[in-house]
Amino acid sequence: MSPRKIAIVTGGNKGIGFAIVKGLCEKFAGDVYLTARNITRGQEAVAKLKTLGFNPLFHQLDITNEESVSAFRDYIKTNNILIDVLVNNAGVFASPTLSMGEQAEINVMVNYFGTLKVCQGLFPFLRENARVVNISSSSGRLLRIPGTDIQAKFKDPNLSIEGLNKLMKQYIQDAKDNTYQSKGWGENAYVVSKVGLTALSNIQQKEFDQKPHLNISVNAVHPGYVDTDMTSHKGHLTIEEGAKAPLFLALNAKLKGKYVWFDCRVVDWDGP
Ligand code: NDP
Repeated sequence: MSPRKIAIVTGGNKGIGFAIVKGLCEKFAGDVYLTARNITRGQEAVAKLKTLGFNPLFHQLDITNEESVSAFRDYIKTNNILIDVLVNNAGVFASPTLSMGEQAEINVMVNYFGTLKVCQGLFPFLRENARVVNISSSSGRLLRIPGTDIQAKFKDPNLSIEGLNKLMKQYIQDAKDNTYQSKGWGENAYVVSKVGLTALSNIQQKEFDQKPHLNISVNAVHPGYVDTDMTSHKGHLTIEEGAKAPLFLALNAKLKGKYVWFDCRVVDWDGP
């Protein structure tokens, strides 16, 4: 197995993901993979980092595409790579002009099921002491979903990934059927996708805790309100400031299964 340390970032061609790749190139003693769904955009980002004196590697990765995730997993396997850092950054905010059914489908399929697909493909290749960082959001806090029945389902300590998948699919269906309001899901499909992602992080940590010898950490992080395309550049933090807490979790933190704010503070995911 490769003795070299390896870090991987999804959606690394722009925004916070680009700054996370840059920060890893500066501080991580090993190879850093910038991945992107679009090869041209990804290679342009790599070229930009090279002009700054960094040397990231590139691989195509569309987190929602089964073949793309399989191809990357096969590349990792064939090259005997073990992963030390995995930053699940890729995400979308579907246009609020779409129907709620469409918003639910897009946000949940990318932010929740896409991230899950990457984890399922790559987790078998995590090295001991690996760190997984899931980029959630302040929108990923449980109380952002108004219905207490729905909250209780997410909070159930016995919730499995399979159960969570069912819950997320139920939401998409409820959004399409226009029953999402009466069922208590609230008005924001991005919120549901990120609450799902934070809940997923908690379950993933519990599963790794069953194999304590691996000492793997999974944390979810809110990067702050950042000046990127996603926020139409209204965010007040720079991408480097948005990358700060994700880099802290990827490199330094001794935290497991936590929900961390952009200032590196641990916040109660299901608290007030
Ligand atoms: P950007 O829109 O600037 O960047 C999003 C990145 O994700 C792009 O590289 C995009 O690629 C990529 N991406 C989208 N879909 C896929 C896919 N299917 N497969 C692979 N890559 C994909 O957003 P930000 O940098 O602002 O957001 C980064 C993360 O931070 C997201 O998860 C977001 O939800 C989260 N976040 C952001 C906040 C903010 O204030 N900006 C606040 C809270 C959370 P492409 O260029 O090809 O579209």
